[in-house]
Amino acid sequence: MHVEAILLGTAQDAGLPQAGCTCPHCRAAHSDPGRRRLAACLGVVDRAARQSWLIDATPDIREQLHGLQQLAPDCPLAGIVLTHAHVGHYAGLIHLGREAWNTQGLPVYASASMAAFLRSNAPWSQLVALDNIRLRPLTADQEVPLSPNVRLIPIAVSHRHEISDTLAFVVQGCGQRLFYCPDMDAWDGWDRDLKRFVSGMDVALLDGTFFSADELPGRDLADIPHPLVTDTAVRLAGVACDVRLIHLNHSNPLHHAGPEREWLAGQGLGMGTFGDRWDLG
Ligand SMILES: [Zn+2]
Ligand SMILES: [Zn+2]
Ligand SMILES: [Zn+2]
Repeated sequence: MHVEAILLGTAQDAGLPQAGCTCPHCRAAHSDPGRRRLAACLGVVDRAARQSWLIDATPDIREQLHGLQQLAPDCPLAGIVLTHAHVGHYAGLIHLGREAWNTQGLPVYASASMAAFLRSNAPWSQLVALDNIRLRPLTADQEVPLSPNVRLIPIAVSHRHEISDTLAFVVQGCGQRLFYCPDMDAWDGWDRDLKRFVSGMDVALLDGTFFSADELPGRDLADIPHPLVTDTAVRLAGVACDVRLIHLNHSNPLHHAGPEREWLAGQGLGMGTFGDRWDLG
């Protein structure tokens, strides 16, 4: 085994507990550290090349870098891959600057629009100007080698294009393929068929933000669209792939054991858990 993927976070951008929230889930997470969840993030390790990467730089990047380093101590960080410009996916870059880690020329892979946003807006532009990071623009469907054993295939997805567009990623090791897709507005708005696409993968880590539509009283889900887990499970019935849900909102009952998790298992889908690891060959 050379290439491994390691799940380093399972929550939506805001994490659990969420700032300013006093819902029962967040109150429980404040009093019991075992109920806290980090924002969605994937570590990729190439043990032969002695390199590792993060997919997304979350507000929880300090803990996630530490987790990656614990599991692959001889594989220093060789780059960061970004999905899009929502706060849970890139704000952790702030820890790379001179006030903090002060990295030197760390490759940051992102779409052209995401790279342009970072290059032209402070404080991110300072990371570029001081060469803390070096932007490596990605194009959808154009495969990029991260190392001799790891290939990255950016996949365009439909997700509120507020600051940047959004990419999901296929991570291809020497044997297996993993699909990382934390954010998606609606499976029907995607130019690929979900079940057919996932059938071509060995592992799929998919947007599970909301379990059901009645989960967020006082917020209009039309403003923050995501596929509902109840719908995703039906679409993926019988699929031959290890499917795990990630990017769960603080309100999502799937964060913890209960009838919703049992239902999900009955549908043949699983939950992502911090520290889950997959051998990609
Ligand atoms: Zn997100
Ligand atoms: Zn809450
Ligand atoms: Zn987003």
